[in-house]
Amino acid sequence: MSGGQHQQCIACGSKMRTFIERISDDRYGCPGVYSIDRCVSCGHMSTAPRLTEEDLPALYSNYYPRREIDFDALEKEAALVEKPLAGFRRWAAGTDNQGHYLAKPGQKVLDIGCGSCLSLLEMQKLGVQCWGVEADPNVRTIAEKYGLRVHIGNIYDVPFADQKFDLIVLNQVIEHVPDPLAMLAALKGRLNEDGRVILAFPNTGSFHRKLWKLRWINWHIPYHQNHFNRTSFTLLARKSGYDVKRIRTITPNLWSVLQLRTSQEQRQEGRASNTWSESGSSQKPPSFVRKLRNVTVTRGARLAGAMMGFMNRALDATGQGDSLLVELRLSATKN
Ligand SMILES: [Zn+2]
Repeated sequence: MSGGQHQQCIACGSKMRTFIERISDDRYGCPGVYSIDRCVSCGHMSTAPRLTEEDLPALYSNYYPRREIDFDALEKEAALVEKPLAGFRRWAAGTDNQGHYLAKPGQKVLDIGCGSCLSLLEMQKLGVQCWGVEADPNVRTIAEKYGLRVHIGNIYDVPFADQKFDLIVLNQVIEHVPDPLAMLAALKGRLNEDGRVILAFPNTGSFHRKLWKLRWINWHIPYHQNHFNRTSFTLLARKSGYDVKRIRTITPNLWSVLQLRTSQEQRQEGRASNTWSESGSSQKPPSFVRKLRNVTVTRGARLAGAMMGFMNRALDATGQGDSLLVELRLSATKN
């Protein structure tokens, strides 16, 4: 519980007020009740009470799903990047909300929080020189299999110390870290001249957040510690000595599908959601009626998917999409 104690806004230093009184993990059923505070000035939000770097290993290893690695699926997925119209497909699906797609052949790219290493495999195929950092030790197996340069640990270990990068990418990472200012500061010395940091993270200024309120999937409590909007992230970047070169919104269609699915579930504190736990219930052979229903549902879902895609692209065009994609450059006026 958060009492009357509010921190200052990390982006602008103004006062924070309670915005959501009670919220808990609705994905993996991690126990605990949190609140979300909102800055009275820039609208930045943060989860309270705060986690520390020391809290993270236990939190992630106990409640984050770690599945067996499906190498075939990973390779198939990575191969899509070389298919014709790959860029258009990503645009249509809203999956180009990931910084590494902005890398050019020959560039040196560091992907922080590279997870399954899909991004690294894709960059390899595109002729990009890449390095990764990942906290999850399970990822070592993947890195070794494909000969990828991945440091298991975090950026504060100063991995690949002799290497500077044209692009440092953080896909869905900055919202998780207890101290985003420290993270941005740690990256400054790792950029080449003219290098860029590219970050993707949920947007609290989005249409979906306003529509779904407490049920918005991107609160993702307590894993998401920081909830940014366009203004608050811009202020934070400036405070850290960066200029925002470009900022836009992109909504993955998958997020909207998950949003619709979870909105029909009963929420219960401490219970994992069916949508987020991959293992479905034991499959019985479907009855005729169920088969018929499945066909109808699939067709309906396809139509709904197309409509949703259309709506998401329109939201993105007007800057109200669910994910922000931000390009930062070191500030010219150093102080
Ligand atoms: Zn603020």
